[in-house]
Amino acid sequence: MPLKCKLDGEPCFSFTYTTEDWEALKAARKQHDMRMPCCGRRAIPKTSSLGTPFFAHTRRGECVSGQETREHLLAKYLVARGAYAAGWSVDVEHRGETPDGEAWVADVFATKGKAKVALEVQWSPQSEDETRRRQERYRASGVRGAWFLRETRQYNPSFLSILSERATPSFVVRLDDSGQDFRIGWSRVSLSDFVADLLSGKVRWSPLPGEQGRVGPVVLEESCWKCHQPTGIVASMVMEDSQGIRVGALDYDDIRIREDLIRVVSESDLRRRHQIGPLKHRFSRTEGRSYFSNGCFHCGALQGRFFIREALLEVLVTDDPDPVSWTSFVFSEAMAKELGGWRSIRLADISADE
Ligand SMILES: [Zn+2]
Ligand SMILES: [Zn+2]
Repeated sequence: MPLKCKLDGEPCFSFTYTTEDWEALKAARKQHDMRMPCCGRRAIPKTSSLGTPFFAHTRRGECVSGQETREHLLAKYLVARGAYAAGWSVDVEHRGETPDGEAWVADVFATKGKAKVALEVQWSPQSEDETRRRQERYRASGVRGAWFLRETRQYNPSFLSILSERATPSFVVRLDDSGQDFRIGWSRVSLSDFVADLLSGKVRWSPLPGEQGRVGPVVLEESCWKCHQPTGIVASMVMEDSQGIRVGALDYDDIRIREDLIRVVSESDLRRRHQIGPLKHRFSRTEGRSYFSNGCFHCGALQGRFFIREALLEVLVTDDPDPVSWTSFVFSEAMAKELGGWRSIRLADISADE
């Protein structure tokens, strides 16, 4: 079920058509010579039950090539359409080879100026090593590659480590509730929009080592166990990259952001406004040793870290609280490695308001 044919001798792609123009082509098909790319036999424009425009052989059984599911065809169509919408030249089932003569076929192949990108819609589960190997083959051919891995009931690609490897951009795609569109991961971002963003430089790997972002404390209002008055407790430190996209959160007592935390809460206005008690080492009878802790704004009593963690988890079920203030932060190499991922403003925005 291909997305292209030869129309009166010229390459023709179904994803470049509006719905109206596609219907017009169907109505006028007898005035054209349409040929399948696989075997050169006669082709006919059709629309799948999922709404995907494609070309089919006029008669079944003439050619064995191109058997694929409607969902797979839809996903390829959405990828090709996104690339086309972003202003790239797009081919499908595009053949090429490495300088060593190893052949490859890209599901969707997009070019713009000197840039070449292979977009692979991976339908059957593929081992991570195989994905890496195929990515290397593209790299050797001067082609960038990106992978869209289908999530199924039996196969959850979110558990793959390849999703956090910069060298092999990989994304999980899921069929949405309508059954006629694919989304990226758990977001509401459509596959088409995401591909357009990817090819427009709006999806980037972040944070990079040395990148300047910011970090800020999330403060919860709790009752002090000792004096029962409300007190502000620093529960975590949220981190954003240079574009303001959230990249993670660390426990308030993580040593790597200790200086930043102390700097932020040194501002007395902020402490008063949120009733944040002093953060320092205190002896805990429960733990039999001293540790860096929150204290009650009023009486100074240690607020236990397990209690804080529980309180934060409870909040996170329904809410993703914003920090009360920010301070600039430069990501170290180790931190960048730990938090690195492919991110875009659209993905961040939409997951945040869900
Ligand atoms: Zn054929
Ligand atoms: Zn107190």
